[in-house]
Amino acid sequence: MHMFCYQCQETGDGKACTHTGQCGKSEEAANLQDLLIYVLKGVGIVSDALIRAGGPIDRRIGMFVCEALFTTVTDTNFDPHPLRDYITRALAIKRQLRARYAAMVDGPEGCASTRTVSEDAQVVWDATDAAEILKKAYTVGVLATSDEDVRSLRELITYALKGLAAYTYHANILGYFNDAILAFLYRALTAVSRNDRLGELVSLALEAGKVNIEAMALLDQANNETFGQSRVTEVPLGVRKIPAILISGHDLKDLADLLRQTAGTGVDVYTHSEMIAAHYYPTLNQFAQLAGNYGSAWWNQDEDFAAFNGPIVVTSNCITPVAPAYASRIFTTGPAAYPGVPHITRDTHEGVDFAPVIALAQRLPPPTAIDRQTFTGGFGWRQLAEAAPRLVELVRTGEIQRFIVIAGCDGRDASRTYYREVAERLPATAIILTAGCAKYRFMKLNLGTIGGIPRIIDAGQCNDCYSLVKIALLLRDACAVRSINELPISFDIAWYGQKAVAVLLSLLHLGVTGMRLGPTLPGFLSPRVRAMLIERFALRAIGPSAVDAQAMMVGR
Ligand code: SF4
Repeated sequence: MHMFCYQCQETGDGKACTHTGQCGKSEEAANLQDLLIYVLKGVGIVSDALIRAGGPIDRRIGMFVCEALFTTVTDTNFDPHPLRDYITRALAIKRQLRARYAAMVDGPEGCASTRTVSEDAQVVWDATDAAEILKKAYTVGVLATSDEDVRSLRELITYALKGLAAYTYHANILGYFNDAILAFLYRALTAVSRNDRLGELVSLALEAGKVNIEAMALLDQANNETFGQSRVTEVPLGVRKIPAILISGHDLKDLADLLRQTAGTGVDVYTHSEMIAAHYYPTLNQFAQLAGNYGSAWWNQDEDFAAFNGPIVVTSNCITPVAPAYASRIFTTGPAAYPGVPHITRDTHEGVDFAPVIALAQRLPPPTAIDRQTFTGGFGWRQLAEAAPRLVELVRTGEIQRFIVIAGCDGRDASRTYYREVAERLPATAIILTAGCAKYRFMKLNLGTIGGIPRIIDAGQCNDCYSLVKIALLLRDACAVRSINELPISFDIAWYGQKAVAVLLSLLHLGVTGMRLGPTLPGFLSPRVRAMLIERFALRAIGPSAVDAQAMMVGR
């Protein structure tokens, strides 16, 4: 076995990728990601000790930890070179933190707490030599935890931390911070290194779900205060006849930089996949050159990028192995990276300099049309808060029988047609609440409206799942019931990566029971942990679409 990764839904045989990742991740990249997580746990242990000793939280370091965790999210970073750089920087930060800790707490004789920190393997390990880094990388992965239940819970939490860190990173980029989130992150990184008590790990997993809501709330605040309150917007899916740049991923700050820099250049900008949500923000949508959304979800990258003709910028997950048809015109930013693809770094003050991308666009032909429709989205929780009385009235009159949350990720697996089938099979009295790229399975269905309310209500990116949580809580309050489980709402969650794991734990923290999860249950859940989630939360795998659609309509 050369690598072991089971963090995403696509994992080999539903168990683990042990040679090359199904996603295309190389053995070297997989092992370097394991080592990066290992070193970040060391950073977490020292940071946690510093905080407990009364030390301040260093936001610059916190932002680095979030970015480094984010870069290990599935389909984000395939390139060993930047992964080695993250490891080297994390080791330097750990040395710096250890020195700070020693200066603060460690007297000439030392003390018990200092020894506890300095004896920890993650804290002590250090390396400057590339060969030594690679050697270590093969020894610190997931299987270093021998007990399968402890391993399962530690990884469940670690994956949620990756999702939580991704949301926090996007907020940090916009200048929004929450020290309590960082404090939890360090405490949780410490616990997944040391704690092997199942009950405590389960509690920590649910706490990760709780803190993830705070991270999503921070990002929601950052996006809406920076780019204007999101609003319902009709997004063109067709093309115009001038050269253009396609921007994918989730980073709205990068898109804002690109829009500023393309003004007056004769170059259009199109969004791809999750970036469609950018159209919902007025200060982004005001740019005349923001022409529309092109193509579909991330996994269709090869087809969409080949037909686009112009340069492509991928700002975060999800990038897939780059095909020759567009290899000469793709760029990455932020935590995203792919071997051989130029990476444009962000200058702290000026943002990302897209001059080379714009110059390339001016030399390339306009995009080939692959669609002509429009899509209406941007139903953030603020709009739905205003519509809550109307929604409650439609529920009372029976015009709305049920809300079905079909949110999360899309993916390559053919079984994901399930989500389109469910959307098609739901009766005209069902409203679909969605966010994330799962919507690409059904967003072009013409499902009509109920009392003027569209039957597909899209909140935006997976980052905007916060809106779905808020909407559920608003409905709970408007209907005067005690729990979300008493509402006419069912959850049919599509998962793929670690952000979805974080959101799943958020819903479990809120006490939501009876959720369906698909297209398969996570391979990283051991039989015992899986049984516990099924027993405690009635979590279940999806079934046949016709059966599930019918069952959800009657609250099963
Ligand atoms: Fe396999 Fe998913 Fe890990 Fe890629 S991220 S190596 S597909 S489990």
